Amino acid sequence: MLKQRNRDFPLDLSKKLNIAHINLCTEVEGPYKRMAIWFQGCNILCKGCCNPELQEIKVSHLMTVQDVVDIAVKSKAENGIEGVTFLGGEPTLQEGLPCLAKALAQVDLGTILFTGIEYDNLSDDIKANIDLIVDGRYEATLFDDERNLVGSKNQQIIYLSDRYITCLNWFMKNREKKVEINVGSMLFVNGDVI
Ligand code: SF4
Repeated sequence: MLKQRNRDFPLDLSKKLNIAHINLCTEVEGPYKRMAIWFQGCNILCKGCCNPELQEIKVSHLMTVQDVVDIAVKSKAENGIEGVTFLGGEPTLQEGLPCLAKALAQVDLGTILFTGIEYDNLSDDIKANIDLIVDGRYEATLFDDERNLVGSKNQQIIYLSDRYITCLNWFMKNREKKVEINVGSMLFVNGDVI
Protein backbone atom coordinates (compact mmCIF):
# COMPACT_ATOMS: atom_id res chain seq x y z
CA MET A 1 0.00 0.00 0.00
CA LEU A 2 1.33 3.45 -0.87
CA LYS A 3 2.16 5.75 2.02
CA GLN A 4 -0.04 8.69 3.05
CA ARG A 5 1.98 11.90 2.81
CA ASN A 6 1.64 15.51 3.83
CA ARG A 7 3.34 17.59 1.12
CA ASP A 8 2.30 20.90 2.63
CA PHE A 9 5.54 22.49 3.83
CA PRO A 10 7.14 25.73 2.59
CA LEU A 11 9.35 25.52 -0.49
CA ASP A 12 12.60 27.45 -0.01
CA LEU A 13 14.64 27.42 -3.22
CA SER A 14 17.54 29.26 -1.56
CA LYS A 15 18.43 26.37 0.76
CA LYS A 16 22.01 25.18 0.29
CA LEU A 17 23.07 21.66 -0.69
CA ASN A 18 26.58 20.27 -0.26
CA ILE A 19 27.22 18.29 -3.43
CA ALA A 20 30.22 16.14 -4.31
CA HIS A 21 29.31 15.18 -7.91
CA ILE A 22 26.47 15.40 -10.38
CA ASN A 23 26.09 13.09 -13.37
CA LEU A 24 23.70 14.81 -15.78
CA CYS A 25 22.48 11.61 -17.41
CA THR A 26 23.08 8.03 -16.34
CA GLU A 27 21.33 4.72 -16.94
CA VAL A 28 22.86 2.81 -14.03
CA GLU A 29 21.48 4.65 -10.97
CA GLY A 30 17.83 3.60 -11.31
CA PRO A 31 15.26 2.94 -14.02
CA TYR A 32 15.13 5.16 -17.11
CA LYS A 33 17.63 7.91 -17.84
CA ARG A 34 18.35 9.87 -14.67
CA MET A 35 20.44 12.64 -13.24
CA ALA A 36 22.40 11.38 -10.23
CA ILE A 37 23.54 13.58 -7.34
CA TRP A 38 26.17 12.42 -4.81
CA PHE A 39 26.06 14.47 -1.62
CA GLN A 40 29.14 15.03 0.52
CA GLY A 41 29.18 13.79 4.12
CA CYS A 42 27.91 10.75 5.99
CA ASN A 43 27.84 9.98 9.71
CA ILE A 44 26.66 6.37 9.41
CA LEU A 45 30.04 4.92 8.45
CA CYS A 46 29.07 1.46 7.21
CA LYS A 47 31.93 -1.02 6.87
CA GLY A 48 32.53 -1.65 3.16
CA CYS A 49 30.86 1.59 2.02
CA CYS A 50 31.32 1.92 -1.75
CA ASN A 51 31.93 5.68 -1.54
CA PRO A 52 34.23 6.19 1.48
CA GLU A 53 35.60 9.41 0.00
CA LEU A 54 32.12 10.92 0.43
CA GLN A 55 31.91 10.17 4.16
CA GLU A 56 34.01 13.12 5.35
CA ILE A 57 31.83 15.98 6.56
CA LYS A 58 33.40 18.90 4.73
CA VAL A 59 32.31 21.56 2.29
CA SER A 60 32.46 20.30 -1.29
CA HIS A 61 30.31 22.26 -3.79
CA LEU A 62 27.63 24.43 -2.19
CA MET A 63 24.66 24.93 -4.50
CA THR A 64 21.14 26.20 -3.91
CA VAL A 65 18.03 24.10 -4.53
CA GLN A 66 17.24 26.47 -7.40
CA ASP A 67 20.69 25.85 -8.98
CA VAL A 68 20.16 22.09 -8.91
CA VAL A 69 16.60 22.26 -10.24
CA ASP A 70 17.79 24.44 -13.13
CA ILE A 71 20.47 21.87 -13.99
CA ALA A 72 17.92 19.02 -13.83
CA VAL A 73 15.41 20.86 -16.03
CA LYS A 74 18.16 21.50 -18.59
CA SER A 75 19.16 17.85 -18.52
CA LYS A 76 15.52 16.83 -18.98
CA ALA A 77 15.34 18.99 -22.11
CA GLU A 78 18.71 17.94 -23.50
CA ASN A 79 19.04 14.33 -22.36
CA GLY A 80 15.46 13.22 -21.72
CA ILE A 81 15.98 12.29 -18.07
CA GLU A 82 12.91 10.93 -16.30
CA GLY A 83 14.08 11.72 -12.79
CA VAL A 84 16.86 12.24 -10.29
CA THR A 85 18.61 9.81 -7.92
CA PHE A 86 20.03 11.01 -4.58
CA LEU A 87 23.09 9.13 -3.31
CA GLY A 88 25.91 9.70 -0.92
CA GLY A 89 27.33 10.34 1.37
CA GLU A 90 24.07 10.49 3.30
CA PRO A 91 21.57 12.65 1.37
CA THR A 92 19.30 13.13 4.38
CA LEU A 93 21.97 15.16 6.17
CA GLN A 94 21.14 17.93 3.69
CA GLU A 95 18.61 20.28 5.24
CA GLY A 96 17.56 21.31 1.73
CA LEU A 97 16.71 17.78 0.55
CA PRO A 98 12.92 18.01 1.19
CA CYS A 99 12.76 21.28 -0.77
CA LEU A 100 14.82 19.80 -3.59
CA ALA A 101 12.48 16.80 -3.87
CA LYS A 102 9.43 19.06 -3.78
CA ALA A 103 10.82 21.38 -6.47
CA LEU A 104 11.73 18.44 -8.72
CA ALA A 105 8.23 16.99 -8.32
CA GLN A 106 6.82 20.33 -9.49
CA VAL A 107 8.70 19.98 -12.79
CA ASP A 108 7.57 16.34 -13.11
CA LEU A 109 10.90 14.71 -12.36
CA GLY A 110 10.74 11.52 -10.28
CA THR A 111 13.02 11.07 -7.29
CA ILE A 112 14.81 8.03 -5.84
CA LEU A 113 16.62 8.29 -2.51
CA PHE A 114 19.34 5.94 -1.24
CA THR A 115 19.71 6.47 2.48
CA GLY A 116 21.48 4.64 5.30
CA ILE A 117 18.61 5.58 7.65
CA GLU A 118 15.74 3.13 8.09
CA TYR A 119 12.44 4.29 6.65
CA ASP A 120 10.65 4.57 10.02
CA ASN A 121 13.32 6.97 11.27
CA LEU A 122 13.10 9.38 8.33
CA SER A 123 11.30 12.69 8.80
CA ASP A 124 7.90 13.29 7.23
CA ASP A 125 9.35 16.18 5.18
CA ILE A 126 11.89 13.86 3.56
CA LYS A 127 9.19 11.30 2.76
CA ALA A 128 6.80 13.94 1.45
CA ASN A 129 7.89 14.13 -2.19
CA ILE A 130 10.31 11.26 -2.83
CA ASP A 131 8.89 8.58 -5.12
CA LEU A 132 11.03 5.61 -4.06
CA ILE A 133 13.40 5.01 -1.14
CA VAL A 134 16.05 2.32 -0.70
CA ASP A 135 16.68 2.43 3.04
CA GLY A 136 19.06 1.15 5.69
CA ARG A 137 22.78 0.94 6.23
CA TYR A 138 25.01 -1.24 4.07
CA GLU A 139 25.76 -4.55 5.80
CA ALA A 140 28.66 -6.26 4.04
CA THR A 141 27.78 -9.64 5.58
CA LEU A 142 24.34 -9.42 3.95
CA PHE A 143 25.58 -8.50 0.46
CA ASP A 144 22.70 -8.59 -2.03
CA ASP A 145 23.68 -10.24 -5.29
CA GLU A 146 20.10 -10.47 -6.55
CA ARG A 147 18.69 -6.96 -6.67
CA ASN A 148 20.08 -4.35 -9.01
CA LEU A 149 21.71 -1.42 -7.22
CA VAL A 150 20.66 -2.54 -3.72
CA GLY A 151 23.76 -3.11 -1.58
CA SER A 152 22.59 -5.53 1.11
CA LYS A 153 19.63 -7.76 1.86
CA ASN A 154 18.47 -5.73 4.89
CA GLN A 155 17.73 -2.72 2.67
CA GLN A 156 14.11 -2.26 1.60
CA ILE A 157 12.73 -0.85 -1.66
CA ILE A 158 9.83 1.37 -0.58
CA TYR A 159 7.37 2.91 -3.05
CA LEU A 160 5.95 6.20 -1.80
CA SER A 161 4.08 6.94 -5.03
CA ASP A 162 3.02 4.81 -7.96
CA ARG A 163 5.61 6.41 -10.26
CA TYR A 164 8.01 3.44 -10.18
CA ILE A 165 5.59 0.63 -9.37
CA THR A 166 6.04 -0.82 -12.87
CA CYS A 167 9.84 -0.75 -12.46
CA LEU A 168 10.00 -3.64 -10.00
CA ASN A 169 11.65 -5.77 -12.68
CA TRP A 170 14.43 -3.23 -13.01
CA PHE A 171 15.38 -3.83 -9.38
CA MET A 172 14.57 -7.54 -9.29
CA LYS A 173 16.29 -8.69 -12.45
CA ASN A 174 19.58 -10.45 -11.84
CA ARG A 175 22.17 -8.05 -10.63
CA GLU A 176 24.24 -6.81 -13.55
CA LYS A 177 27.71 -5.42 -13.36
CA LYS A 178 27.56 -2.13 -15.20
CA VAL A 179 30.06 0.64 -15.47
CA GLU A 180 29.38 3.90 -17.22
CA ILE A 181 32.13 6.32 -18.08
CA ASN A 182 31.40 9.94 -18.89
CA VAL A 183 34.19 12.14 -20.11
CA GLY A 184 33.36 15.83 -19.79
CA SER A 185 35.05 18.51 -17.80
CA MET A 186 36.11 15.69 -15.51
CA LEU A 187 36.41 11.92 -15.75
CA PHE A 188 33.45 10.41 -13.99
CA VAL A 189 32.89 6.70 -13.37
CA ASN A 190 29.83 5.23 -11.71
CA GLY A 191 28.19 1.81 -11.44
CA ASP A 192 29.40 -1.47 -9.96
CA VAL A 193 33.00 -2.17 -9.13
CA ILE A 194 34.33 -4.77 -11.59
S1 SF4 B 1 25.16 5.21 4.60
FE1 SF4 B 1 25.88 5.00 2.47
S2 SF4 B 1 27.45 6.59 2.25
FE2 SF4 B 1 27.11 6.33 4.44
S3 SF4 B 1 28.68 4.88 5.08
FE3 SF4 B 1 26.79 3.71 4.64
S4 SF4 B 1 27.03 3.07 2.50
FE4 SF4 B 1 28.50 4.73 2.85
